[in-house]
Amino acid sequence: MMTAPVSDYIHCKRHGGCLCKLLPSDLDISGFPCVDYSPAGKQLGVHGSSFPALLALCAWHRQRRTKLALLENVPEFPISVLEALMGDLYVVKPFYMEPSDSGCEFLSRMRVFILLMLRGQGASQNYTSILRWLCLATPPPVGKLLGLELW
Ligand SMILES: [Zn+2]
Repeated sequence: MMTAPVSDYIHCKRHGGCLCKLLPSDLDISGFPCVDYSPAGKQLGVHGSSFPALLALCAWHRQRRTKLALLENVPEFPISVLEALMGDLYVVKPFYMEPSDSGCEFLSRMRVFILLMLRGQGASQNYTSILRWLCLATPPPVGKLLGLELW
């Protein structure tokens, strides 16, 4: 699965369902389905129907060698799954966040944000700086530190 070819094109709703080319990127901020890990779902984990979506996301990053990915999910997601799938190429650092940590006082559900840092890029030593940078959403000092052209 992890060595299967990954398409450069995706059906794009923004452009009327046509095929749009995905451009290479050093940074990905996204997530993957939580339905098989959430207490609100059946909690089928890797046996659930959404697991192939996570495998596809991992295959994409592995093939593209994305330097930095920040993935959001529910705190019940087992980090060991990502460590098993990506740990040979990526440093995997989860952090857990209450909505109130970012000023969202009216939301109640904790989330996990999982930082994937491509090994050999210097990112693993600087992950607290990366987290600070991502949380503050301020541009590039950390990106420049890592040699990333993020903007
Ligand atoms: Zn498009």
